[in-house]
Amino acid sequence: MNVEVHNKKVLVRVDFNVPLNKEHLITDDTRMRKALPTINKLLEEGAAIILMSHLGRPLKNRMADGSINIKKYTLRHLAPHLSDLLGRPVQFTNSCIGSYAVKAADKLKPGEVLLLENTRFNEGETKGDEAFAKALSELGDVYINDAFGTAHRAHASTTVIARYFDKDHKDFGLLMESEILNAEKVLNNPRRPLVAITGGAKVSDKLLLLEKLIDFADTVIIGGGMAYTFFKAQGGNIGDSLCEDDKLDLVLQLMAQAKEKGTTLLLPVDNVAADRFHRDANTRIVSSMEIPEHWMGLDIGPKSIDIFTSAVLKAESIIWNGPMGVFEFQKFAAGTNAIAQAIADATQRGAFSLIGGGDSVAALTQMGLADQVSHVSTGGGAMLEFLEGKELPGIKAIRT
Ligand code: AMP
Repeated sequence: MNVEVHNKKVLVRVDFNVPLNKEHLITDDTRMRKALPTINKLLEEGAAIILMSHLGRPLKNRMADGSINIKKYTLRHLAPHLSDLLGRPVQFTNSCIGSYAVKAADKLKPGEVLLLENTRFNEGETKGDEAFAKALSELGDVYINDAFGTAHRAHASTTVIARYFDKDHKDFGLLMESEILNAEKVLNNPRRPLVAITGGAKVSDKLLLLEKLIDFADTVIIGGGMAYTFFKAQGGNIGDSLCEDDKLDLVLQLMAQAKEKGTTLLLPVDNVAADRFHRDANTRIVSSMEIPEHWMGLDIGPKSIDIFTSAVLKAESIIWNGPMGVFEFQKFAAGTNAIAQAIADATQRGAFSLIGGGDSVAALTQMGLADQVSHVSTGGGAMLEFLEGKELPGIKAIRT
C-alpha cells in the first residue's frame, strides 16, 4: 500500500462474506481476520476507515413475498465481532449509499471505523452500475481494494468504483498484494521443476487451467473425478465414475498438447472404487482402465499416491487446485491427504507452494497443514482465473 492516507477517509473493499449460523453468529471468521493487517495499517497511518463488503446473495435468495431478507444478510451481525478484533468501536449504517451513509462518512474522524450495509442489497452492485459505484466513491477520498475473493467480478464496489479515483488515490490492500505477488511468483519465471496438481469433480471447470498448465508447467498431475473422462477417452472401462462424455475429444487434445510441449502428464494408475456413493460403501483397489460395471472411482489408489507424491517431492514450485477424491468421506480422503502432506514436506525443504483455494484449502486445513505451505489463497474462483492467465477486472481497475 503506497498511498497517502493521513487524515483521509479511506474506502476499503473487504471480503467479509463469512458463514453465519441460524442465530446469525459467525462460524468462521477467517476472511475478517485476513483483512485486519490492512485495516490496522491504515488506522496507524491516521486514516478514517469506511468498510464495504457483500455477504451472500441477498437478491437471488429473496423472501417468499419478494423482499430482501435483511435479517439474514445484514452486515450489522458482523460489527460487534469486528469491533472485538480491532479493539475499537465499529459504527454501522443500514445503507451503503444515500443520506445516512453520507452523514456517517462525513462525521467520521481519523481512527474511527464505519461498516456499510451489504453492497449486494443494491441491484447496481453485481451489475457494475456506474451511478451506484459513483455514489459509493463519494463517501471517501481514497479507495483500497483488499477483496481478492471477488477480484474476478466487475462489480460496482470491486471494480467500477476505481474509475473515480486517480492513481494517487487508489491501491491494493495488503492481502490483495500478497495474493498477486504469490500467484505471479509461479506464473512468471518459477523455479523449476514446476509441478501442478489438479483435481475436483469436472474437467469442464478446469479446462482453461489445464491448457495453461500444460503450456508452462513441467509436470501436470490430474486426479479427482475429472481423471475418469481421460480414461474413457482412451477406451477404458470406468463403470459409474464421473465422466463428461462431451469432453472426450477435448481431453485427447489436452494429452496431445502435453506430448507436443514435452509436459509430463500424470494420471492415476489405480483407484479406490466404491459400490455406491456413500461414506460406508464397499471398496476395492482397481486399475484405472478397468473399473467394474456399477462401481465408481472415488479416490486415487496407493500406486498413484506413490507416483504423484514422488513427483511433488521433486518439485521446486507447486500449484495445487482440487482434491484427488471425495475427501469429505474418510474412506476416500487418503489421496488428497497424501498430496497435502507431500506439498507440506516439499515446502519444508525449500519448494514454493501455492494452494489455489476452495476444497484444497479445506483439505489442508483439516490436516492442520495450512501454515506449512507457502501461500494459501483466499479466493477460489479468483485464483483459478488468475492462474488461467486472465487479467482480473478488480486488479486491472487499480492498475489503470
Ligand atoms: P471442484 O469444486 O471441481 O474442485 O470439485 C470438488 C469436489 O469434487 C469435491 O466435493 C469432491 O468430493 C469431488 N470429487 C473429487 N473426486 C471425485 C470423484 N472421483 N468422484 C466424485 N466426486 C469427486
